[in-house]
Amino acid sequence: MTKHRFSYIERYALWKAYDGRCFYCEEPLDFQDMSIDHVVPERFVGYPDELAQFRRDYDIDENFPNFQVNDFANWVPAHPRKCNTRKGSEVFSKKMMLLILHEVQRRLPAVEKQLTLLRKERGRARIFGSLGTAIENQNFSIADVREFLSQVESEQYVDESLVLTFGVITDDLFEQDHGIPLNISYDYPHLCDWLELDLVKHLRAIVPSPFHHTQPSERSGESLSVRIVFPELNIDSLDNFDRPWWKILEALNFWELFGYTYQDAFPELPSHGIFGQLEPG
Ligand SMILES: [Zn+2]
Repeated sequence: MTKHRFSYIERYALWKAYDGRCFYCEEPLDFQDMSIDHVVPERFVGYPDELAQFRRDYDIDENFPNFQVNDFANWVPAHPRKCNTRKGSEVFSKKMMLLILHEVQRRLPAVEKQLTLLRKERGRARIFGSLGTAIENQNFSIADVREFLSQVESEQYVDESLVLTFGVITDDLFEQDHGIPLNISYDYPHLCDWLELDLVKHLRAIVPSPFHHTQPSERSGESLSVRIVFPELNIDSLDNFDRPWWKILEALNFWELFGYTYQDAFPELPSHGIFGQLEPG
């Protein structure tokens, strides 16, 4: 039997519709840890005769016309071990089953509402997505990003958190005169530290709104990339960006990159600047 693979949207809508809580114990549930329980066990999908028998015995069709095993009418968010411990073959008693399925029905409008919101969000994300691809294939400058974003902004997509990925090929740095101070030796870790600190300091100088890393930088040995989110960026402030060795590898909105909203990832704004142990002096 092939198991249903939950899409991000399905998982997220379910989590939001149940207010980020476990259906069974009603305690808060981390989105990352959430498991999805089938109230009517999913294994029935592989046994149509048994499923038909079950539907008759439990009066499923009378109570829930068009009931499907793989549907929001049968999915609930649950703690993975603590509250989702039934074996695949175990079935609730009829009374319990009907009680639970009715409660799930009551939540369906909230699920629908979340799905609608998320689809709208997805539509917006695609606009940024196409920009991301455009940038990936060429070495775009800040000015190009700005031009794309001003088009996007005019279409009222201003409320998205922009994530820019800055990249540099460290081997190329010394082949041309980029204006890197000569006292920076070609020692890869040292060079990366310097580049990353310099980038953050420079951004702090020109961008008045908060920004921060979304994750530690990636250091391949030949290149360095740094991903920074700007939750309230006014793109004009990037006009003064003058570190020509950095390329913009990617410009995407937060949702498109991570599959959840900036607000959910960072309910409180992390401290301004750099991620991890490095702190510009
Ligand atoms: Zn629970």
